[in-house]
Amino acid sequence: MKWISTRGASPPITFIDALFAGTAPDGGLYMPERLDALPPTTVDRLRGADIVEIGTTIGAHILRDEITPQVLQPLVREALDFQIPLVRVTDRISVLELFHGPTMAFKDVGARVQARLLHHFTDGTPLTILVATSGDTGSAVAQAFHRVPDSRVVVLYPEGQVSDVQEAQMASLGDNITALAVRGTFDDCQRLVKQAFADDALRSHVWLTPANSINLGRLLPQVFYYFLLAGLSSGGGRGPVVSVPSGNFGNLTAGLIARRIGLPVARFVAATNVNDAVPDYLESGRYEPRPSIATVANAMDVGAPSNFERVQALYNSDLEALRRDIVGAAYKDAQVTAEIASVYSQHGYLLDPHSAIAWLALKDHLADDQDSQGVFLATAHPAKFREVVEPAIGRRIELPRPLADALARPRRSVSMPADYAALEEFLRAAPNFQLPTPKA
Ligand SMILES: *Cc1c(COP(=O)(O)O)cnc(C)c1O
Repeated sequence: MKWISTRGASPPITFIDALFAGTAPDGGLYMPERLDALPPTTVDRLRGADIVEIGTTIGAHILRDEITPQVLQPLVREALDFQIPLVRVTDRISVLELFHGPTMAFKDVGARVQARLLHHFTDGTPLTILVATSGDTGSAVAQAFHRVPDSRVVVLYPEGQVSDVQEAQMASLGDNITALAVRGTFDDCQRLVKQAFADDALRSHVWLTPANSINLGRLLPQVFYYFLLAGLSSGGGRGPVVSVPSGNFGNLTAGLIARRIGLPVARFVAATNVNDAVPDYLESGRYEPRPSIATVANAMDVGAPSNFERVQALYNSDLEALRRDIVGAAYKDAQVTAEIASVYSQHGYLLDPHSAIAWLALKDHLADDQDSQGVFLATAHPAKFREVVEPAIGRRIELPRPLADALARPRRSVSMPADYAALEEFLRAAPNFQLPTPKA
């Protein structure tokens, strides 16, 4: 099977090439040429299966002629070696906890599979993984690639705009991981990274690959965990309503792909903070990307979500079809912190700010849809955002071990202006970097 650009002006390529390429030459994002439905017996079999069986089955289905289940299975087993529990919060609402990986955020799922896919398909040529982050991507990618041979990670984050723990997780690893603290916004970081990928002169010296959620190596494994919801139903063969806390919309795109290949889902809820370009579009029909606004759910502070293009491609830009499958909802910081407190006192469940937005959007949706069961995705452990969570509930929360360890290590990030020349110079001059030999 081939992978095609959302903009339709680049030649179709194989998964392996798309994995290393990131963005297509026409500026679009790669999507599978076709998405075939799984046989219904396969969906039945996956009900109650663990993530390794699901990942092997779904991955091999989508990648069919490019990777065998035999190659995929050990890779998935090693990458996804942590729990992804489905927990009941009320009689109508469950939560899929995606945050039990090493950085305690859902991006571990994508990044850990991606690191192993890239390593599996390289031939020893040194590879630079270049990534812009508003917090969680960078820490997950850094952890996922830490000490992976022949690779280094260069991560750009907006200085002073990520949480203490996130910064510790990116800036304290050392070895093949460098954290660049950019004096600007997340959008600046994304712009610099895009510029580097568009710089052919640089790329003939440095073998670059991206790790943002635009990359297929991250997108694909996110499809897997949706099948952990295969056992939930709203009656009448309808699946649950699934609420997804969204920033760059990779997570929701993966959910839409899962549904397209056969997972029963009644509806998706696209839950955002005040960076609400997509909920706004669903309501008004006008898509207006804008500069990002800082919020308590900072991993979702994205004014111009890159994966929106994939969502549009899946629906052929048919707004009415999109509206049937996805409802949008956006929340302000004060609503988020109040809800963290109220859910904690009413249900004894502690939400991080991102997951709280998904919960809020689901709760509001289910109030108008009495027949459905709901599930929301929890994308970060509350301790990762204790600056927000502790004042909301009025008590301290204990730091889980992986976070405490990261905070205890010394940090050494490099401060950098939001200026492409500085990034280029850094990438060219970085120590211990050998010239890549061209791939055959
Ligand atoms: C990245 C992230 C999100 C947003 O996911 P997208 O795929 O970018 O929409 C939500 N919550 C947390 C904690 C994240 O790190």
